[in-house]
Amino acid sequence: MEKVLLKNIDKPDAYKIDKYIEYGGYKAVREALKSNRDHIIQVVKESGLRGRGGAGFSTGLKWSFIPKDPTIQKYLCCNADEGEPGTFKDRGIMDNDPHLLLEGMMIACYAIGASVAYIYIRGEFAFGIRRLQTAIDEAYSKGFLGKNIFGSEFSLDMYIHSGYGAYICGEETALLESIEGYRAQPRKKPPFPALAGLYGKPTVINNVETLSCIPAIIEKGPKWFSSIGPEKSPGPKIFGVSGHVKRPGLYELPMGTTLREIIFDHCGGMLNDKKLKAVIPGGVSAPMLIAKDLDTPMDFDSVAAKGSMLGSGAVIVMDETTCMVKMAYIINRFFSHESCGKCTPCREGTAWLTNILKRLEHGEGNDGDVELLESVGTNIFGRTFCPLGDGAVMALRGTLKYFKDEFVYHVKNKRCMVG
Ligand code: SF4
Repeated sequence: MEKVLLKNIDKPDAYKIDKYIEYGGYKAVREALKSNRDHIIQVVKESGLRGRGGAGFSTGLKWSFIPKDPTIQKYLCCNADEGEPGTFKDRGIMDNDPHLLLEGMMIACYAIGASVAYIYIRGEFAFGIRRLQTAIDEAYSKGFLGKNIFGSEFSLDMYIHSGYGAYICGEETALLESIEGYRAQPRKKPPFPALAGLYGKPTVINNVETLSCIPAIIEKGPKWFSSIGPEKSPGPKIFGVSGHVKRPGLYELPMGTTLREIIFDHCGGMLNDKKLKAVIPGGVSAPMLIAKDLDTPMDFDSVAAKGSMLGSGAVIVMDETTCMVKMAYIINRFFSHESCGKCTPCREGTAWLTNILKRLEHGEGNDGDVELLESVGTNIFGRTFCPLGDGAVMALRGTLKYFKDEFVYHVKNKRCMVG
């Protein structure tokens, strides 16, 4: 498959505007600016592009919810918070090909009529922040941002807003709160951001990878995009593979590529040729899959049919030496630390789960602890204000589904069964 998202990643100096133009960049936005806004939204809808941040919602449909009234201020926010453990795909684009993202954002802003755009990026991405700021400055100096971009009637300003490392800022309404200068906690929905988002105005929030797909859709057409991968989840997808594989890294492949192909064909197989024990297919809130699921196509619907989530496409591979109790402890400790504290089931429940898992991992578990984990999980799931609490429980339930015997072994023998 011809690469579109990582096409420039190995080309020299692709992050510089002149090189990006030399490699064919900024053609799509010029073309888009000559078209009708509704036409662009229709093209994106027809392409079948679904959000690459995790939810998988139709991008064109999301854009179409924005009111058409030209007198209303609208905003685009690019979600570049990328805090899901195991996920590093957006960083690959921002560090190496920042103008691809900027071009996608320019087209999105034009389509929805937004004159101001923000990139909300996690503060730890210091290198990416510098790269993006340089790219924005270059775009202003060439007239690609600011008043009448590319000599058109359309004007656009773009700003970077750096976060401070809170995972919850990846939740779209917490992200908006953070930009507005408030404590980053999720908002009650409705109203949804499309009607009352940033500063109470209609706002589209799209992920970095989603926006980076837009220039190729405009240039090559919606049919080309929708012909890649499965009908209901088309397009190219970046899979960020980490863990026990020979060649971890970023792989741009058609949506629907199976886990087996990703791990064994592209990543060279298991590290030290050990046996595969489990795979997390979409970041740590996605329930794990096991060896029998290796032929699952990696697209939104097929992974959901297996009881997990494609999420961000962060594939974490674990071999037979991995202790699942320790893994569950580390993941839950993360969620407990990142709970924003707004609602009790998540704030207290994830802390209790972490305490129980810690004593199991340290050989101090009690009879009934495994049942207690399940009970606390039941009291969190479906009772939290945002998906963070549910994500913590889903990850734990996914582990218990296949590896409950390891938890029981830890209680009985005060040690790990995998050594
Ligand atoms: Fe905050 Fe957790 Fe409640 Fe979400 S579920 S609002 S992160 S406390």
